[in-house]
Amino acid sequence: MGSDLMRAWVVAEPGPMATGPLVMEERPIPEPGLGEVLVKVEACGVCRTDLHLAEGDLPPRRSRTTPGHEVVGRVVGGEGLAPGSRAGVAWLRSTCGACRHCLRGSENLCPFSAYTGWDTDGGYAEYLTVPAAYAYPLPEDVPAERLAPLLCAGIIGYRALLRCDLPEGGRLGIYGFGASAHLTAQAAIAQGATVHVVTRAPAARELALELGAASAGATAPPEPLDAAILFAPVGTLVPPALEALERGGTLAVAGIHLTDIPQLNYQRHLFQERTLRSVTANTRDDGRAYLDVALAHPPHVTITPYPFESADRALTDLADDRVSGAAVLLFS
Ligand SMILES: [Zn+2]
Ligand SMILES: [Zn+2]
Repeated sequence: MGSDLMRAWVVAEPGPMATGPLVMEERPIPEPGLGEVLVKVEACGVCRTDLHLAEGDLPPRRSRTTPGHEVVGRVVGGEGLAPGSRAGVAWLRSTCGACRHCLRGSENLCPFSAYTGWDTDGGYAEYLTVPAAYAYPLPEDVPAERLAPLLCAGIIGYRALLRCDLPEGGRLGIYGFGASAHLTAQAAIAQGATVHVVTRAPAARELALELGAASAGATAPPEPLDAAILFAPVGTLVPPALEALERGGTLAVAGIHLTDIPQLNYQRHLFQERTLRSVTANTRDDGRAYLDVALAHPPHVTITPYPFESADRALTDLADDRVSGAAVLLFS
């Protein structure tokens, strides 16, 4: 099996999508290591982080890495999970288990953590490996393309919702409305929140209203907010988002990359105990907790499907705001 080849997309030379940073190549099917399983990919979600890696906003950690960390597939080799079972591979690939953060239940902050599609090859390929302890068991009765976006967009959005300290029945602002935001909005509405969406994309505003948002506008929300999540990777949105908070409100920045935040004014943006915080990856407990809820009460997952062979087009469309909901690569 080790000599068998597979097709895999790799980031060859990070740069704007127009320069073709993503190329497909043939490479050997990877061999699972100790405690790892080999997964044959059924579907892989397209996350904005993949775009940051392709375009070089996030520096590569190794050369010619395959992106993709919303992977739904089947176990076809290795140890730790039943052969033939369905598994999900997400962003957090491994942690040390021994540092102060791991021991305190904050493995998302482990300085020795590794990430799928950044430190190791991800799911824009026909096969990948993953430590069994970091894979999520997934049900058989849901199509792979509906499960894939839950694995990062869903889980990270869930953590962002925890981090923004939304009070019960509170008013939540959501800035940017892509894959993660459209799942997070539904989770918040299900909890009884009033959700206001701010996004420049007209189609996304329409989707937000369909999913139950109280308002969807291009600029400021219509009332003060108890909490807000910034999904758009745009630092210039931080000051107005802080200004739109009620006293005591919290703004959580959900993304791994943000353009520079302009100068803040203490009185206008922070005083009255407004809080600005980041969201860094997720713990496996976050992942399991979110998937429990999302599989018991499935959200409406809006999908823009692409064949595996068109991963470069999917990322270009994401860069140009042409994706509705979540883009997903399908393997035939
Ligand atoms: Zn992601
Ligand atoms: Zn650690």
